[in-house]
Amino acid sequence: AKRRGKNQFVFFDDSMRQHSLDMHNEELALAKALEDDQLVLHFQPQFDLTLNKVVGAEALVRWQHPEKGLVFPDNFIPLAEQSGQILALGNCVIRKSFEYLAHRESIGLYPILLHINLSSLQLSDSNLVPFVESMIKTYQIPGHYIGFEITETTLLTDIEQAKKTLEHLKSLGICIAIDDFGTGFSSLGQLKNLPVDLLKIDRSFVWDLEHDKDDRMMVEAIVAMAHKLDILVIAEGIESKSQLNMLRAFHCDLGQGYLISRPIPEAEFDEFSDSVSVD
Ligand code: C2E
Ligand code: CA
Ligand code: CA
Ligand code: CA
Repeated sequence: AKRRGKNQFVFFDDSMRQHSLDMHNEELALAKALEDDQLVLHFQPQFDLTLNKVVGAEALVRWQHPEKGLVFPDNFIPLAEQSGQILALGNCVIRKSFEYLAHRESIGLYPILLHINLSSLQLSDSNLVPFVESMIKTYQIPGHYIGFEITETTLLTDIEQAKKTLEHLKSLGICIAIDDFGTGFSSLGQLKNLPVDLLKIDRSFVWDLEHDKDDRMMVEAIVAMAHKLDILVIAEGIESKSQLNMLRAFHCDLGQGYLISRPIPEAEFDEFSDSVSVD
């Protein structure tokens, strides 16, 4: 039994070593991806439920891998957060977002509010605000065309520091959105102390809206309270017409989901935002 125990230990040790080798290779691959500009943004339309018009988008990063094809963020964002590469990756996403807005302007498309996901390491990085300022200058895009999506858990790490950074971003015109709202521990009361413009209701509240009375009550209450605090509400993960109608009935302001469009490449989004109206 002892011997077996030892073998198991050796096996475990080897697999650990293998794991850290894989990690190292993944890090190198991601570093190369950044260097060779293999990251691309896809855009998922965000539409105004009253105007029935695309007024914004969420920028979602993908890795155009030379061998593996299009790799989705769940496969490399966690690694980037662990290795610290999320700072370089995040700056790349911010730059590409500004680039896209400048591109829209140059071809005469109407301005949209483009939302960017922010990891907690980015929010606590002292270079974030200066970097955003430099992007505003370089691309001549006003800050109010950019929004940052921040999760409740991201805010929990150091709320006072986060508050300072958010206020600084706010002073540049940046829109602040709370992502996955309802899944964390924050209350609307806590949000009152932060410069929040938008709440994004997590899709776990949306997917069963037709059948779950509690979800309906939650969504209705979140919208009502947010509006009292002068905060707009967007629902994510809208997949059906009846979900859309319920959200409208609850006075939810904006929506996003496969019903309208999946995240799509730049050229497709250009066309989509120019043509679609949702009813
Ligand atoms: P998220 O911020 O919650 O983004 C929404 C995810 O839900 C996206 O997955 C989107 O494709 C998917 N989705 C959109 N509409 C629907 C729908 O109607 N139904 C369902 N079932 N899903 C829908 P994606 O693109 O794979 O992104 C996954 C996560 O990766 C994002 O979750 C976000 O946390 C992270 N992520 C993506 N881009 C970035 C980035 O540039 N920086 C950072 N830090 N994180 C990112
Ligand atoms: Ca998001
Ligand atoms: Ca989300
Ligand atoms: Ca979510």
